[in-house]
Amino acid sequence: SGQNSSYDLSFKILLIGDSAVGKSSLIVSFISGSAKDIAPTIGVDFKIKLLTVADKRLKLTIWDTAGQERFRTLTSSYYRGAQGIILAYDVTRRNTFTNLSEVWSKEVELYSTNQDCVKILVGNKVDRESERAVSTEEGLALAKEFGCLFFECSAKTRENVDKCFEELTLKIMEVP
Ligand code: GDP
Repeated sequence: SGQNSSYDLSFKILLIGDSAVGKSSLIVSFISGSAKDIAPTIGVDFKIKLLTVADKRLKLTIWDTAGQERFRTLTSSYYRGAQGIILAYDVTRRNTFTNLSEVWSKEVELYSTNQDCVKILVGNKVDRESERAVSTEEGLALAKEFGCLFFECSAKTRENVDKCFEELTLKIMEVP
């Protein structure tokens, strides 16, 4: 079979959160981090990554909001069929953190019809430690409230980026 079909499982993952928290950067950082990638030629709205996790060859289709979050026009079609959702904020901008509770988690409830959808909370831009406005403890507390995983990372330095996607993927694989 061709390279595109040589996988065992296929998952749709999406990133949500305020504009400029680093959603696109996280995707690019993750996609370009390894040699066995498919070039992102399919479209501007999603990218594909092949990787092996727990002995399974996976195809991840990672959807980006492509700036639509600015106009609050993400709709059910964006969320449809997603197995994993990354709720992202910028650790240097407090409002991007509070908007996860006030805006984004509500939108997930409204549009994400998949009850088994796995969520992960991600605080990005930890490389800007001196400008930090949200503590790790606050991130942990929100993750506890959401009942989801939590990581802090940097799309710039690639710190923890692979970990975020891999832990999310592992969790999705645990869904019966
Ligand atoms: P999006 O609107 O959520 O997709 O955010 P972008 O990926 O477009 O990033 C917004 C801005 O933040 C850009 O200028 C990025 O270069 C910058 N950025 C993204 N991730 C990081 C990071 O981890 N650290 C730093 N210092 N800047 C970042």
